[in-house]
Amino acid sequence: MEITKMWLTVNPYSRPGTIRKKTEKIAVHYVGNPGTTALNNRNYFNNLAKTHARYVSSNYIVGLDGEVIECVPPEEIAYCTNQANEYSISIECCHPDATGKFTDATETALAELCVYLLKRYGLTADDIIRHYDVTGKQCPLYWAPTKYQPAEIANGRFAAFKNRVRDMLGNAPDVAENVEELPFCVKILDPELNIRKAPGTSSEIVGAIRGGGIYTIVDTEMVGAVTWGKLKSGAGWISLCEKYVRRI
Ligand SMILES: [Zn+2]
Repeated sequence: MEITKMWLTVNPYSRPGTIRKKTEKIAVHYVGNPGTTALNNRNYFNNLAKTHARYVSSNYIVGLDGEVIECVPPEEIAYCTNQANEYSISIECCHPDATGKFTDATETALAELCVYLLKRYGLTADDIIRHYDVTGKQCPLYWAPTKYQPAEIANGRFAAFKNRVRDMLGNAPDVAENVEELPFCVKILDPELNIRKAPGTSSEIVGAIRGGGIYTIVDTEMVGAVTWGKLKSGAGWISLCEKYVRRI
């Protein structure tokens, strides 16, 4: 399992920057938005710093292919599990359809992430909780009793997951951590690279970098599949596509 750290900008709406006083539980959620990727959801949380639409985020998001993004460091509070935010780490999971059932890849990565965090915080498999256990919300949907799935079935699915984690706790999975650290430097490979007012090719061109050079990037943002970088000078944003720039 690989954890990619793409921390949200500290802001009141999704990353208050508050260190949690105690960490006693790991709370599992489903994103409730079928087919969206981990990155889509991470970027949604990050954009709340600008849109101010609502207060929501999670420490981790597990994607459809088992990719894991760390949005908020595990020791900090995220806005996901209501009153349990004060004592739990939250994990959102993507799902392909409206049933909320996780893919095998998602569930495997979730189990590995739980093992990693339980060990790190000295907890046991019984310390994994559902959003449902805190507020009664049908989250994660596939593991929560509803009109369509009786309690014994939903609770049985959750119990089976915890048993799986319990079995894995003896053998810790390999965990690789990639850090998206800011700022970082890039070497410009493109002879004439556009600078745009905002991230994305639909934003206005406000200049260009001609003849290459080394530049410092102070912020990043994903637009579709492309990462954009904000120039330290304040001139604007450039594409960090590997065709145009190389990280150094
Ligand atoms: Zn939830």
